This record gives sequence, C-alpha cells and structure tokens, in this order.
Amino acid sequence: MRIIFVGPPGVGKGTQAQRLVAHLGIPHLSTGDMLRQAMSEGTEVGRLSQSYISSGKLVPDEIVLRIMDERLTQPDCRRGYLLDGFSRTIGQATALDEFLAARGTPISAAVELKVDEEQLVERLAGRGRPDDKPEIIRERLHHYQELTSPLVNYYRGHGLLYEVDGTGSQEEVFDRLKQVLAVIASHEQQKTG
Ligand code: AMP
Repeated sequence: MRIIFVGPPGVGKGTQAQRLVAHLGIPHLSTGDMLRQAMSEGTEVGRLSQSYISSGKLVPDEIVLRIMDERLTQPDCRRGYLLDGFSRTIGQATALDEFLAARGTPISAAVELKVDEEQLVERLAGRGRPDDKPEIIRERLHHYQELTSPLVNYYRGHGLLYEVDGTGSQEEVFDRLKQVLAVIASHEQQKTG
C-alpha cells in the first residue's frame, strides 16, 4: 500500500506513523526526518533547507522533490510505503502523481488525522524541538492552513481521502487507523482483482 499521511504539525502523525509502518511492514518516509538528516550531514540539500526549516517555512518544492524521487526509487519501496509530511503543497502532490503514474504505481489513499487547533499548540509546545517555539509553531500552523490544507481537498477530489479522529489515547487513535487501513486494503484488492 502507498499511503499519504496528512495532518497538521502536532497532531501525533509521527508517533502513529511509526506504529503503522511496524504494523504494515512498509518503510516510513518522513521528509522532515530526511531534511534534518541532510542538515546534520551537511549535504547540499541540507545546506539549502536550513534557513527554511529554522524559520518554520516550507522548503521549496524543487529541493523536497529531489530527495523524494531518489528515495521512492529505492528497492524497499516496491511493496509500498507511508509518506509522512509529504506531499505538503498542491505542487508536490501533482509532481508525485505524475512521478507515480509514469511507474504505474499510484497512491492507494490519503489518510487525514484531525484534532482541533488548541490541542495542537499544546502538544507542540510540550515536544521541545528547536522549531517548536510558540512563534515558530504559529508560523508552521499558518503555513499548514495556507498550503497544506488544500491538499485534503485535492485528495478528496480524487476519491482518495480517509478522515480519522486524532483525539483520545494513542491506542484509540491507532485502532481507528488500523480499521481505516483495512478498508483501504480491501478497496485495493478489489481494484487489482
Ligand atoms: P516535519 O518534521 O514534517 O514537521 O517537518 C519539519 C520542517 O521540515 C517543516 O517545517 C518544513 O520546513 C520542512 N519540510 C518537511 N517536509 C516538507 C515538505 N514536504 N515540503 C516542504 N518543507 C518540508
């Protein structure tokens, strides 16, 4: 299964993504993790991304697409993957669709994890990452609203969107996600016959 995991910063996406990939046995592809790793290794992509990440802005599509295209062609992605934090803009979504269409491996579903904004700021403030300062948090939520939430409509328009309530315990959220994934898997089986 090729899943896109969508949701604002602080929704608990990272934690649930790790549990989901363990459950499904597919790689977890987080562009945030890849970019932070590139920064710590001092690669060209890392150097280009630094100022955007530290100020809470999105890294330009061209840079993100470069690392993503490379990653998706690795052999461990053949059986599927969970994309976490990508795509983040309509530009990235359409580029990804074209890239995957050319390989005959379209996205299976986009899963949106939802909680209200007050809870998001609370959760982010408790995480302690350098880009989790209150003013940077607001900046990141603002960019999410402006650039990423239209993605939800994009995937809904393609009949690929599944919404999941992100409130409650980690266990409760994980159970909901597993139920939704079972539905997605059965749809996919019907499609492939
Ligand atoms: P995350 O770990 O997903 O919260 O990402 C941390 C930061 O990395 C974001 O605030 C962006 O600056 C950058 N980033 C991660 N993924 C993307 C993406 N798909 N497009 C643009 N910027 C990204």
